[in-house]
Amino acid sequence: MKLVILGATGSIGESAFRVWEEHRERIQVEGLVAHRQGERLWRMGKAMGASWVALTEVEAAERLRAETSGVAGPAIVAGYEAMLEALDAAPATHLLAAMSGFAGLRPTLIGLKRGMRVMLANKETMVAAGDLVRRTAEAHGAEIVPVDSEHSAIFQCMALPQPVRRIILTCSGGPFRETSLEAMRSVTVEDALRHPNWSMGPKITVDSATLMNKGLEVIEAHQLFQVPYDAIDVVIHPGSVVHSMVEFQDGATLAQCGHPDMRVPIAVALAWPERWPLDVPGFEWAGRTLEFFEPDVVRFPLLRVAREAGRAGGLYPAVLNAANEVAVEAFLARRIPFLRIAEIVEGVLNAFSPEGTLEELEQVLETDAWARRQAAKAIAAPAD
Ligand code: MG
Repeated sequence: MKLVILGATGSIGESAFRVWEEHRERIQVEGLVAHRQGERLWRMGKAMGASWVALTEVEAAERLRAETSGVAGPAIVAGYEAMLEALDAAPATHLLAAMSGFAGLRPTLIGLKRGMRVMLANKETMVAAGDLVRRTAEAHGAEIVPVDSEHSAIFQCMALPQPVRRIILTCSGGPFRETSLEAMRSVTVEDALRHPNWSMGPKITVDSATLMNKGLEVIEAHQLFQVPYDAIDVVIHPGSVVHSMVEFQDGATLAQCGHPDMRVPIAVALAWPERWPLDVPGFEWAGRTLEFFEPDVVRFPLLRVAREAGRAGGLYPAVLNAANEVAVEAFLARRIPFLRIAEIVEGVLNAFSPEGTLEELEQVLETDAWARRQAAKAIAAPAD
């Protein structure tokens, strides 16, 4: 198989590198894409024997070109548009879409149009433009295999086409699972970035702290598995042992369990329907207890807001996603307090009035840009 990785220097890219190390005879790396971490990307590209590496930030690519001039190694592609061209021309069979945020949409669509298996770690793409993404995959006979740990769990449980009664998404609860609403008013960026179980990039870690991540995952599950919202439940499971469950028509429930290690869903997505060996241990089950709780939508309103946006459908999830990306960025830049994230997202959604529900790329891009402007205005305005 021939692989391109989007978001190669992020935490998913890091896990993918480790899978590659164990299976280098099976995986030929065509290209690696990152935003601006040139040095790290170059080292990965050389180690993996990539034909090219791309930095979406032009200045970073130019710096890397200057630093490596005369050195043997992969070709360097500069900028987002040039990256899209390189991807479109790549003889790849597999695309690991692990770019963070909405920027992952266009390369994902290119991968699908080229008939690649898209290994989807970028949930924002499925939230903002799920209908478009699914239609594109169908039109080109391309597969989408989820890499998000919960959706990989569901995908594995649904290996046989049998009627599903309910999907149960598990959620660690994040760092503020037991924090009072009062205390949540003054939590810091550092507090929010301290995820108890998973080590991930800053955007998704903040989403895990607001539970927006789970809200986005509800929409992602609806899109990937075509299950109605009423049949997608969320349960807090602090241990992160069960990665999600599927209940079937006869009441039988299948769960997928494992250590929180992203190498597993990445290897599953690469190898499916096979399974490759991995240097990941199983559990010592004796003495282990599994706990499950109801999520608190009062302290974590984005879980409710996301579900409402999902049900509204059309371009609402694109608005939800864009407003959230901007609000999270502002929180990370210490421009707004933690609880303001949810207020901004809900405010932008309330201000949205869609003109039709047809979901073409241009409309999604326009709506995304509108929601970003609205969110930026709300952030700049004094809070009431
Ligand atoms: Mg997840």
